[in-house]
Amino acid sequence: MKKIVIAIDGYSSCGKSTMAKDLAREVGYIYVDTGAMYRAVTLFAMRNNLFDSEGNVEAERLEQLMPQVQIAFKLNAETGRPEVCLNGEVVEREIRSLEVSQHVSPVAALPFVRAKLVEQQQAMGREKGIVMDGRDIGTVVFPNAELKIFVTATAQIRAMRRYKELQAKGMPADFDDILKNVEERDYIDTHRATSPLRQADDALVLDNSNLTIAEQKQWLMKRFEERTK
Ligand code: C5P
Repeated sequence: MKKIVIAIDGYSSCGKSTMAKDLAREVGYIYVDTGAMYRAVTLFAMRNNLFDSEGNVEAERLEQLMPQVQIAFKLNAETGRPEVCLNGEVVEREIRSLEVSQHVSPVAALPFVRAKLVEQQQAMGREKGIVMDGRDIGTVVFPNAELKIFVTATAQIRAMRRYKELQAKGMPADFDDILKNVEERDYIDTHRATSPLRQADDALVLDNSNLTIAEQKQWLMKRFEERTK
């Protein structure tokens, strides 16, 4: 069976990573969560006090420090899942906090951040056999991906999913704050000058507002089989 590149893009918290992870496991592909990479850079910026009280990032200083930022994925032997590392430290839990979510979109809008991470992502996909999720995978990172999915769901439903996820992990969560964050990130992600979130012309749209995980999986497997025949 031929190996392909699968690009999964869409809004925040619409279940892209769960879906991409499941699909990768099912078909034996590598999974790359590009959002985790932008989150790790954001954590680096937070740890280096590069945000002012209004949440603006000191772009020039971050650009100077970028050569010191090394992002990698390491397989967790217990869970079998890849975890993101920032300069050798596993930061999978730290990058999921609401604070990182609140700071990530301005960092992800910086062209020098995107250039560095996109180059790394393209290198990861050179051998194909990869499922990558993010905002610009089908448009910028892999414009020739054989299968492109654009995932969407209502902001309310997405905020509720993230709320439950944080609660389940015992992390602080307030539904209204999360909804506001989801809406703000949608706005910044779709309006930024560099690689804004948009549906690639040849992407298939998946609105999963009212789909169960099983239904979604069935839909995806069918698309995968069509493209790898
Ligand atoms: O997917 P996740 O919500 O973890 O991504 C966090 C943020 O990283 C997004 O809100 C977006 O601003 C940014 N991002 C991006 N391009 C990607 C992946 C994520 O700009 N390919």
